[in-house]
Amino acid sequence: MSKKMSLVIVGFGGMGSYHVQLIEGNKNIKVSGVYDIADDRQQVASKLGFKTYPSLEAVLQDSTVDAILIATPNDVHKEIAIKALEAGKHVVCEKPVTINSRDLLDIIDVAKKHDRVFMVHQNRRWDEDFVIVKDIYDRHKIGEVFHLESRVQGANGIPGDWRHLKAHGGGMVLDWGVHLLDQLLFMVKGKINSVTANLSFALGDEVDDGFISYITFENGVTAVIEVGTTNYVKLPRWYIKGTEGTALIQDWDLSGEMVTRNQSAEKSEPKPIRAGQGLTKTMAPPSESATIRHTIEKVKTTMPSFYDNFAAVINDKSEPIVKNEEVYRVLVLIEAIFKAAETGEVIKDFDVLNQPQT
Ligand code: NAD
Repeated sequence: MSKKMSLVIVGFGGMGSYHVQLIEGNKNIKVSGVYDIADDRQQVASKLGFKTYPSLEAVLQDSTVDAILIATPNDVHKEIAIKALEAGKHVVCEKPVTINSRDLLDIIDVAKKHDRVFMVHQNRRWDEDFVIVKDIYDRHKIGEVFHLESRVQGANGIPGDWRHLKAHGGGMVLDWGVHLLDQLLFMVKGKINSVTANLSFALGDEVDDGFISYITFENGVTAVIEVGTTNYVKLPRWYIKGTEGTALIQDWDLSGEMVTRNQSAEKSEPKPIRAGQGLTKTMAPPSESATIRHTIEKVKTTMPSFYDNFAAVINDKSEPIVKNEEVYRVLVLIEAIFKAAETGEVIKDFDVLNQPQT
């Protein structure tokens, strides 16, 4: 068996430490060291038995290092990535890869020039709740899906320090939004028609503490994407409407239900019900025989090892499981969300938005 590749983790905070678990036991890659600007994090790494480097330059000058993982705050991903690629290292970068799409194009240019692999860790494409929803969508389990709502809501405000600051690429659009938008574009293929958005500043930070965006696609699908950090009562994680039914997933525990129209049931007029101070037929529940209730089926899937794929892209030119073009498209959508929120406009001109910005 060939020698394992050596990877150094740059930025050994919450996510940098988590990557140690992701790489543990990998037959192709091992974590060989750590560099963090904070002394206390260097000490933690050292206690765990990792070699620590005094500077990024020291990492990049070490010819035994094949690759780095960038898990620093978002604003420095670009400069670290470019330096590492120029030094001949392959790079894995945490999300959001950069804080604008132009910066990602700059990184891709350098990666091509130096023939190095650059991949972004968009891990939530393999979250179970999303895999279930994608299966409902792809296999038309509720007919043709024409509307979906994807939300994450917490009540703890914005965590940590740098996520509160614009200069570090803070805010929830870039933090959680990037995951939900990546999932959306991974599932709904085709052109985006329009984007509207509102950012929330309920906590008084200079960055958004949440947002709601309404996105329409050329194929007729509409989507509401929402992130909140001041929600003491949560809405369901997913709500999906199709031509034959509706599905709801409550949370990461995957509880929920899927209800479809019973095609063999005789059509009968709904009976009016008393609702508030009036009567309604429109909002009366359908008869028992008109619908079929299904439990949410767990879809058998495990996340393909990101690092196995990263090694295969390097060694065998395999296809990356997260492609830079996909990541670029998400960043363009994020820019549209910021622009829509700032101007109050409906953003429609995606041909223009898809051009690299100067
Ligand atoms: P964190 O604050 O816990 O850790 C960041 C670490 O980077 C700190 O230890 C800090 O000292 C260090 N650092 C800062 N500037 C540096 C520099 N120039 N060089 C070296 N080290 C530096 O933050 P976190 O939650 O671990 O987030 C880090 C990155 O991971 C962010 O980009 C974030 O969006 C991403 N992230 C991804 C996921 C995911 O599920 N994919 C989850 C959480 C965080």
